[in-house]
Amino acid sequence: MEIREVERPTAGEGEIVVEVRAALTCGTDRKILERGHPKFSPPLVMGHEFSGDVVEAGEGAPFRVGDAVMCGTSGSCGNCTACRDGARNRCESPTREIAWGAFARLVRVPRRVVAENVYLKPADLSYEAAAFLDPLACVARGFARLGLRKSDHLLVVGTGPIGLLWIAAAAHAGLERISALGKGESRLSLARQWGAEVYDLSRHERPPAAPRVVECVGTPAAWAEAFALTSPGGSVLFFGGCAPGTSVALDAGRFHYEEITALGSFHYRPEEADCARRWLASRVVDPTPLVSGEGNLDDLSSFLARMRAGEGFKYVVRP
Ligand SMILES: [Zn+2]
Ligand SMILES: [Zn+2]
Repeated sequence: MEIREVERPTAGEGEIVVEVRAALTCGTDRKILERGHPKFSPPLVMGHEFSGDVVEAGEGAPFRVGDAVMCGTSGSCGNCTACRDGARNRCESPTREIAWGAFARLVRVPRRVVAENVYLKPADLSYEAAAFLDPLACVARGFARLGLRKSDHLLVVGTGPIGLLWIAAAAHAGLERISALGKGESRLSLARQWGAEVYDLSRHERPPAAPRVVECVGTPAAWAEAFALTSPGGSVLFFGGCAPGTSVALDAGRFHYEEITALGSFHYRPEEADCARRWLASRVVDPTPLVSGEGNLDDLSSFLARMRAGEGFKYVVRP
């Protein structure tokens, strides 16, 4: 990883250039650097969870210079099979647009991203809270995939930032019972504070099986554990992406005789970004306890090192 000067972005038709006020570190950043990612390969400017101020608006863009905005990262084509199926999150078009590169002072947000996934930031919502739009929208997508209802018992496997966001959102949704399997005292105490029954992996505690399980780690071992902890007739959502080329072995007998439903979830559709916006704007989900520190671009490598060491949750970069 290195810091270098790049060309100043400009806004084309329908596009905006955003001066980044808060960009969050994410487990995905670390995964891209350490083990590769099926959709992103370096060299690239990283940073994809951000909010800021519009400093340039192209012709026809629905925002003005000075607007404070919170940004999703994708823009779909609307024409491919996935888009026509209502799955804009899986748009297959080579013209699918991405707003990526928020670890920089300025970031260009392409036209379709602007049209689908960018919102005005409420004045009383902090920039760092607004930057949670992207990860929370992914959680909203997972909610839709699992078809969660109030009467459900949800088990969250993994208590990293994403697992904790799941707990916060599930608590807001008024789920009857939330349990969590994870490790690390600060993580487990936040999970407890947000309403989960907590099981400590480092003490070999094991939660009872649940009818709804979400895996939030992204390793084959955690996928297998989440499957093992799904009760008969239940559904498991594999939410954490594994390294490219990973295979996972599941017990075929349980799958068949116990009628377990296994689901995947990727990214989010505009309606789920809007759901995340509402969660944040109405304060029903307050992600700020997940911010463990802040700094500028020079601090980024130490933030990533701290994340690797399991220290803290997410860090705010203010370029
Ligand atoms: Zn992310
Ligand atoms: Zn498409």
